[in-house]
Amino acid sequence: MNIAENINEIRKHLPSKVELICVSKFQSDAAIMQAYNAGERHFGESRVQELCGKYERLPKDICWHFIGHLQTNKVKYIVPFVTLIHSVDSVNLLHEIENQAAKIGRKINCLLQIHIATEENKFGFAVDELPAVLQQNNFSNLHNVNVCGLMGMASLTDNQKQIHDEYNCIAELFTTCKQVFFENKNDFTQLSLGMSHDYQLAIESGSTMVRIGSSIFNN
Ligand SMILES: *Cc1c(COP(=O)(O)O)cnc(C)c1O
Repeated sequence: MNIAENINEIRKHLPSKVELICVSKFQSDAAIMQAYNAGERHFGESRVQELCGKYERLPKDICWHFIGHLQTNKVKYIVPFVTLIHSVDSVNLLHEIENQAAKIGRKINCLLQIHIATEENKFGFAVDELPAVLQQNNFSNLHNVNVCGLMGMASLTDNQKQIHDEYNCIAELFTTCKQVFFENKNDFTQLSLGMSHDYQLAIESGSTMVRIGSSIFNN
């Protein structure tokens, strides 16, 4: 199947309120343009340099999502154009985004990444750590950062129940945070969960954004 057919096939299985983020990391400009010509406008990248090159070369109506680990010294390169940073994994990083965004008068939408997978190499706040972080830091006071939800990755496993449990756990944390820490904030609404092999489970858990790469680009 080609890229356009893959996208249409995936869209058939997505409820209308779930947004498809087409993960284009490591993909050529030509492959991205095939997805673009199939109507896709939301693309996800995980490396700053690769993202900046693609932003320069590709159509300016693309909405770029940053989904990888972001080093504070590279924030300034993506802040001028990024649509949503899914992978905020420290308070320090959030403050750097605030600083860089303030310099250019933008407000950057961000998600807090939750570490739930059993793998050590994944980044993010632990589930039982986040409430204390939100207690100590009133993110609603930031002017140039808009914290609009949570993001997470499940463990790399074939165990469907484990994946479902992990996604449900993040979804519960999301509901709690919304009630306790973001009750006056109408735009704490996004739950970025799900990749090619597990997005159906993520949607069952309440995902509002799925990040899909290999099922679109056949690799
Ligand atoms: C690569 C990546 C994806 C997409 O994974 P696929 O299995 O290719 O769909 C989603 N989220 C993050 C954070 C990624 O790094």
